[in-house]
Amino acid sequence: MAEEPVLTGILGGTFDPVHFGHLRLAQELAERLALAEVRFVPSGVPPHRAPPAVSPVHRLEMVRRAIAGNSRFTLDQREVNKSTPGYAVDTLGELRAELGADAPLCLLMGADAFLGLNSWRRWEALFDLAHIAVALRPGFFRDSWEEAMGEALRRQLARREQAVDGLRRASAGGIVVQEMTPLDISATRIRRQLRRGASPRYLLPDAVLAYIRDNRLYS
Ligand code: ATP
Repeated sequence: MAEEPVLTGILGGTFDPVHFGHLRLAQELAERLALAEVRFVPSGVPPHRAPPAVSPVHRLEMVRRAIAGNSRFTLDQREVNKSTPGYAVDTLGELRAELGADAPLCLLMGADAFLGLNSWRRWEALFDLAHIAVALRPGFFRDSWEEAMGEALRRQLARREQAVDGLRRASAGGIVVQEMTPLDISATRIRRQLRRGASPRYLLPDAVLAYIRDNRLYS
């Protein structure tokens, strides 16, 4: 019998700081899509948003602590090591070159991130490099989410959406949309809590909170 191709997930983000919303997204999509690995790729200088509150090295270290002990989760430092903005299309191009043309890759993201996809550099080329799996995070319902999308994105979704099983039949080009346990956690809110001296405990791993305290981040 032919061996099942191994599907690798990629989760990029600022992770400023990483929290349970990110980790559940990774865990639930890993299970649903039977991902062999989820690579967390913290951004260095993010191209699409204001500079993060803390340095790439701190964000990287927080992700390292958050994923410790999960053998499916790995850390990819490549964007942190760059001094220029790490565009997804470049990162995926590098991963594709490393993993081979036939390896199925899947970019994981929340529904909010997908809505902004058409502003990413060479966004249509992303579909030549990877599949995309979207998790409907809290506040995002299928119908209103589709309505909020620009025409170009809606067309891509209509053309490319498929069932989870389809993702192994090609190395790139499909879109799957999945519901996930709603966890209304955002890094922005965690930063605000820390700034005003409130505790974000139970919104993120204890090891990440300890790192934040030890390094006096977000105070
Ligand atoms: P911020 O509040 O600073 O904008 P964030 O919490 O949205 O940050 P990012 O690092 O920008 O975190 O997000 C990385 C990815 O994780 C994105 O694809 C985003 O959609 C997803 N994500 C973030 N928070 C959640 C959540 N609570 N549930 C599901 N997905 C999430």
